[in-house]
Amino acid sequence: MRYGILGDIHANLSALEAVLAEIERESVDRILSVGDVVGYGAAPRECIQILREVNAVVVKGNHDAACTGELDMKFFNHYARAAIEWTRTALGDGDLEWLRGLPLVAHETHCCVAHGTLADPEFYEYIQSTEDADPSLDLLEEGVCFVGHTHVPVTILRLTDDPTHTGYTVATEIDLADVSRALVNVGSVGQPRDENARTIYALYDSDEARIWLRRVEYDIEREAQRIRAAGLPNILAERLFLGI
Ligand code: ZN
Repeated sequence: MRYGILGDIHANLSALEAVLAEIERESVDRILSVGDVVGYGAAPRECIQILREVNAVVVKGNHDAACTGELDMKFFNHYARAAIEWTRTALGDGDLEWLRGLPLVAHETHCCVAHGTLADPEFYEYIQSTEDADPSLDLLEEGVCFVGHTHVPVTILRLTDDPTHTGYTVATEIDLADVSRALVNVGSVGQPRDENARTIYALYDSDEARIWLRRVEYDIEREAQRIRAAGLPNILAERLFLGI
């Protein structure tokens, strides 16, 4: 089975269209999204509609939960909060209902999906070290879990012949043949923060036991214009060019 996995989309329509065009060429069977469909960007309705059209399996991110009022915004910075407030006005009742109905974790045949961690998905903690990943790796039954939240792609893993040691790799092609468990952060479709402005998606072929992280050019200027036209803070447009 072939999966296409989308990191934090953040209402960036141009980036979403660019990765989906690539995914279409890869004859993917199922599209997964690690959440944060909305927030920061200016096309939340369009992005939700596309995910629904392609029958994506989507989990709930912290920005999605803030938008529906399920998560307190006290940990959000000024710009993120302004974007959530704008997003609430841009979405219809059906969109909010869809966001509210998203699960925190989705279990597929060959992998699972969560936003921040698999261990405590409702707390939206950040995995920034191998120690942070251990509780989630301990719980992982499917062997592979896809996450997002930090917007920085990295794979944290344990090898079959050394299952008590947790290591990591920033490789863009991961051979799972000797891997017992892997937690794959797929980066962010709509707001990359690894100083690479190109959008990104992951491809997972369960028969080949291999994962690829692929960068794709997209029309950043078009999306920046949309953010400015919506009256969102200019910094949310500017950072897209820098990948921060
Ligand atoms: Zn995010």
